[in-house]
Amino acid sequence: MQLKTIKLSGFKSFAEKTKIELQPGATIIVGPNGSGKSNITEAVRWVLGEQSAKTLRGQKMGDVIFSGAQQKAAMNLAQVSLLFDNSDHYLDVPYSELEVTRKLFRNGESWYGINGQECRLKDITSLFMDSGIGADGFSIISQGNVEEVFNSTAESRRSIVETVAGIFQYKQQKKTAETK
Ligand code: ATP
Ligand code: MG
Repeated sequence: MQLKTIKLSGFKSFAEKTKIELQPGATIIVGPNGSGKSNITEAVRWVLGEQSAKTLRGQKMGDVIFSGAQQKAAMNLAQVSLLFDNSDHYLDVPYSELEVTRKLFRNGESWYGINGQECRLKDITSLFMDSGIGADGFSIISQGNVEEVFNSTAESRRSIVETVAGIFQYKQQKKTAETK
């Protein structure tokens, strides 16, 4: 499986429609301070289901919407799509290409979609949960994450191992079953 394309518009500093194409292998994003490198990784995290505004360096989720710049008015919609090549069927769905989209409107309304079809946030999180690439997976290691692992308690270190090992998903299902 490979992340092939990231399409953004109205997301943080990416006001204009922007398409980032990733080639197989490693991709390195370089640029001056404040040019939007971290915003790109946050866009990926956001589509994968991130629900914490703080993790995205905001106060509220609406802070991901382009808030205006010199000569450019604020926007009312943030939209990001990730296109995955799933021809190896790493994700357990019958699609060889998978486009996952998240939108957030200024009025607080959200829209989630898989291959153009509206879905629930839950569909996206469960799709990625056991793949190791969900918002809570460890596919994204932010600044400070490594120290956090070393400085955390034994319990939270255990939960990290469980997430990586794919056990976390079953614990979630058990919890859901128990509360029904
Ligand atoms: P560094 O090298 O310092 O880590 P970076 O390339 O990672 O920088 P980012 O942190 O991704 O840069 O981008 C920060 C820029 O994004 C800031 O200029 C900030 O004003 C802008 N920005 C963040 N949120 C928004 C928003 N909602 N609307 C407009 N601009 C935004
Ligand atoms: Mg940065």
